[in-house]
Amino acid sequence: MNLHIYNTLTNKKEQFLPHTENKVSMYVCGPTVYSAPHIGNARAALVGDLFYRLLQKLYEEVIYIRNLTDVDDKIILESEKTGVPINIITQDVTKMYQNEMSKLNMLEPTFEPKVTDNINNIISTIEKILNNKSAYISENHVVFDMDSFKDYGSLSKKVSDDLIDGARVKPETYKKNPKDFVLWKPSVNQNCGWDSPWGYGRPGWHIECTSMIKSIIGNEQTLDIHGGGNDLIFPHHENEIAQGTSCASAKYCNYWFHNGIVLVDKKKMSKSLGNVILVSDIINATNPIVIRLALMSSHYRQPLNWTNDTVNNAKNIYEKIVTSLDADSSDVREDDNDFLELLCDDLNTPNAIQYLVKQAKDSKNNKNLLPKLRYNCDLIGLKRNSYKISVELKNKVEHLISQRETARQNKDYASADQIRNMLASMNVDLKDGPSGVTWKIKD
Ligand SMILES: [Zn+2]
Repeated sequence: MNLHIYNTLTNKKEQFLPHTENKVSMYVCGPTVYSAPHIGNARAALVGDLFYRLLQKLYEEVIYIRNLTDVDDKIILESEKTGVPINIITQDVTKMYQNEMSKLNMLEPTFEPKVTDNINNIISTIEKILNNKSAYISENHVVFDMDSFKDYGSLSKKVSDDLIDGARVKPETYKKNPKDFVLWKPSVNQNCGWDSPWGYGRPGWHIECTSMIKSIIGNEQTLDIHGGGNDLIFPHHENEIAQGTSCASAKYCNYWFHNGIVLVDKKKMSKSLGNVILVSDIINATNPIVIRLALMSSHYRQPLNWTNDTVNNAKNIYEKIVTSLDADSSDVREDDNDFLELLCDDLNTPNAIQYLVKQAKDSKNNKNLLPKLRYNCDLIGLKRNSYKISVELKNKVEHLISQRETARQNKDYASADQIRNMLASMNVDLKDGPSGVTWKIKD
């Protein structure tokens, strides 16, 4: 089966062919770890995760790299604002990110490099670019020389003279040309800087990704797939291509995919609008697998509009699929090429989900479909056992319920309420009915 990816570089859906047969390398830009992960971070990670799962089905060896940006202006600003040391902020947010992505059932990437572990690699990549005369040193900065790279704009389709972003702002004195960008800059922050041949300083954001890729796949290797949010196309990914082409003779990357933005009630998420949806909030309120399904409801290249309906629709779909699977205790799985084909069409998750809903419905009358449904749910990470309750938890809940019953019979309503609150904090929903108390774990 052939995978087709819409390649931002060519603006076409193309058949994917790895540079080396049966061996695939993929890099997806990870988060800057300065504040709690939001739903936009989750969408970018999920698209990477789905490609990774699919590539693993199709190829023998897949390397998936998702980085952590732990050196950045935003982190320094956050530390100045809150008084919390930089390393504590980055450690805490990294833990939060990894924990939340794991709850959303994302597979761990093969490599998860951090910038702070790669300073030497970054310095050596910058040295290569300097040796190739594609950068210059000026006022303790190392600056990429845009005049040295004629293909600039191939990804974003911006023509060199149209790069007004840099030209509009007051040109920095250390730049020969306002369009040039920084590879290394001096740092005054004692907690965020490293010694380098160009003095104490820190890397620019773009060079971080290029160096981490090169250090893992090899400087003279071509990356197969590079992904990230479409807000990264310009200038971040464009600059990565300029750097990656100037430090090696191999082509930097063959296929680029970009995911669309997440909107909240059709509005862009922003701190000033107060509409940022944090992953922690939604996965505490709703089963993370339902959230995972909701994130797949739009095609990855389209914007995803997040509303209450997005989550409710995903809940309904999840219930339909899970009810069908729970009707049968078997664990047999069977490949389903029709489903795989939908995913191979540039990760068409809306069609794939529709297919699953139909398969779940049809399986009610035809149990032979269940092994395929199970296989498909595994493939896109819909862990159907997430609702299954451990024996330990079940015993604890039932013990508390019987204690509550005793308290009520003794008219000790304060204790009964206290136990009810305790159960609520364990996410247990109690219902007092004519035939006694029933309970379930809230979704
Ligand atoms: Zn990046």
